[in-house]
This record gives sequence, structure tokens and C-alpha cells, in this order.
Amino acid sequence: MTGINETRICYKCDYETKNPLGACPQCGHHLRTTAQVKRLGMVMAALGGFLTLFMAGLTVTVAQLVWHPFDPRASSSFTGGPEALLFIFGIFAVVMIFGLTSLAAGIFQIKHGRRNRKVVKMILALAGVLVAAGCLVQIIL
Ligand SMILES: [Zn+2]
Repeated sequence: MTGINETRICYKCDYETKNPLGACPQCGHHLRTTAQVKRLGMVMAALGGFLTLFMAGLTVTVAQLVWHPFDPRASSSFTGGPEALLFIFGIFAVVMIFGLTSLAAGIFQIKHGRRNRKVVKMILALAGVLVAAGCLVQIIL
């Protein structure tokens, strides 16, 4: 898969070259071919997608246990207050955002053969805002 004329990209500083170099001349980081970057993207997207679906499933399961008073499992399974619940769903949300970030970044890598730090930064910044907003709501309430 490593053709001589294949574009190699530095994963760290986005340096790009057609020369068959092993390391980046700018930062010394290991250079990857676009095929390798795409394969990494597939792994990231698969892991991110799995993580997102898993957390979504877990959220639904917990929500059903907590908010179905007629379900015989509900009364015995959950004894925490609304704060504990908020905390649990907060953790779920953070993990889910992490999964979505990985999924989005992975898809971008598969499509373009390079890493996109902007997408990752944007989603993580959004997640930070969400977490901050969540904390603020808890303080106000
Ligand atoms: Zn570099």
C-alpha cells in the first residue's frame, strides 16, 4: 500500500510531502501515508460510533429504570436523588460527545485522507460549553 508517489502527511503538524520520507522534516514526527490516515479514520469512526450507540443505549436503559414507576425493576434498582441522576447522565453525555467527536473526526479522515484538528477542537469546545452550562444549571437550581 505504500507507493513511492503516495502523499505522506505529518499527523502532528500537517506537513505534506510526496517524497518517501520516514519522519517529518519539520517536527520529526512519524509520517503517515493517506492510506494509513484513512485506515486510522475508519478505526476512529468505528470506535466512536460504537461508543456513541453504547452510551445512547445505556442512557435509554437507565431512563427506563428510573422513569417507569410501574416497572417492577424501577423501585428497587435506583435509590439516588435527582442530583445523582444528573451526575450519571452528565457522565453519559460527556462520553457520548467524546464518541461523536471520534466519529466525526474519523469520517473526515476517511474522506480527506488527513486529520482535521478544527473539527475536534470545535466539538470539544462545544462539549466544554455544554458541561459549563450543565454545572451552571445545577448551581442555579
Ligand atoms: Zn510534523
